[in-house]
Order: sequence, then C-alpha cells, then structure tokens
Amino acid sequence: MEKQPFSQIHSTLPIEGKRRGGSLILFPGSFDPFTLGHADLVKRALQLFDQVVVAVGVNELKPGWIPVVQRVEALKDFYKEEPRVHVDQYAGLTIDFAASIGATAILRGLRSVKDYEYELQMADVNRQLSGIETVILFADPELAAISSSVVRELAAFGHDISAFLPEGYMPTNK
Ligand code: ADP
Repeated sequence: MEKQPFSQIHSTLPIEGKRRGGSLILFPGSFDPFTLGHADLVKRALQLFDQVVVAVGVNELKPGWIPVVQRVEALKDFYKEEPRVHVDQYAGLTIDFAASIGATAILRGLRSVKDYEYELQMADVNRQLSGIETVILFADPELAAISSSVVRELAAFGHDISAFLPEGYMPTNK
C-alpha cells in the first residue's frame, strides 16, 4: 500500500478552528472499513447532537487496508446528502483535533466488555488532558458482532462483505 505524505493527511474541514454553533460531536476511528455498526452510531448520535464529524484518524506507521484518501472519499460520498454529518481526517492526538473543531464531545461505541477497558482508559485520559467528555453508545445487539477487522478478514478470503457495510458506501482498497 502506498504511503501518503503528511501534507495529504491533515484536516481539510472548512469548520476547522471554529464551532458552527449548536452541539458537535467528533466520531474518531480507523473506519477501515466503515461498517453498519459505525453508521448506526452516527445515526443515533444525530438524535443527541446537532452535528457529527466522522474523522479518520491517520497513523503514518499503520497505513491500514483501505488507503486513507479512499476511506475519506467513500465516507464523504456516503454522507453527501446529510448536511449534519461532516467527514474529515486527522493525524495526531484525537483531543487536539477535537479542540480544533470545537467539539462538544467525542463519540465511541461499546460492543462488549472487550471494548470496555480500552474505551474507559481513553475516555479518562482524554477528559483529564482536555476536559472533553466521551459519549459512549452501546452497540445495537444486532450489529455488535460486526467489526472492521472481521470484515477485512472475510474480504481477504474473497468473501462478499457487502452485508456488513452500509448500503451506498463503497470504499475501494486499490
Ligand atoms: P478504532 O481503530 O479507533 O478503535 P474503529 O474504526 O475500529 O476505530 O471503531 C471506532 C469506534 O466504533 C470504536 O469506539 C468502536 O468500539 C466502535 N464500533 C466499532 N464497531 C462497532 C459496532 N458494530 N457497533 C457499535 N460500535 C462499534
């Protein structure tokens, strides 16, 4: 997979550095790929917050499965008709990015006790460092078994993964 230069991986969001008014929650993740579980969290967060920023966290040392540019493009296309959802990418600390866009809170999902310890630790550290709260939504039980890593594994064995991805979301890993 091709490595992306840093110049291509920092924020492109027009609202960077200012808040648009209303509440805004940042949903950070790898989204490699974005699944039905992630889409469900965004939908539910829109009932609680005015705006949701779905942001792909970029780790230069871990290029991942789908190149970041395509992860972002596919998400932008998927949410193009939803004015309250914005798609972006960021490198560095999630709390720094959250502060730069004026996020009210950070959104994360909890599928099982396996997610619990990691999410608790991240939420605690993030709150202590920045004062930004993490809002955790429990996974819909019907979607709780879906994870990006399982989807990637199925794809690696040539399995059709479309049943795990939101309809209309089409990333390409080329
Ligand atoms: P990360 O690499 O930061 O863990 P992911 O893209 O794997 O990012 O997930 C982002 C968030 O979405 C995490 O909080 C994760 O627990 C949550 N999540 C992942 N899959 C599901 C699902 N099926 N239902 C609900 N939440 C989910």
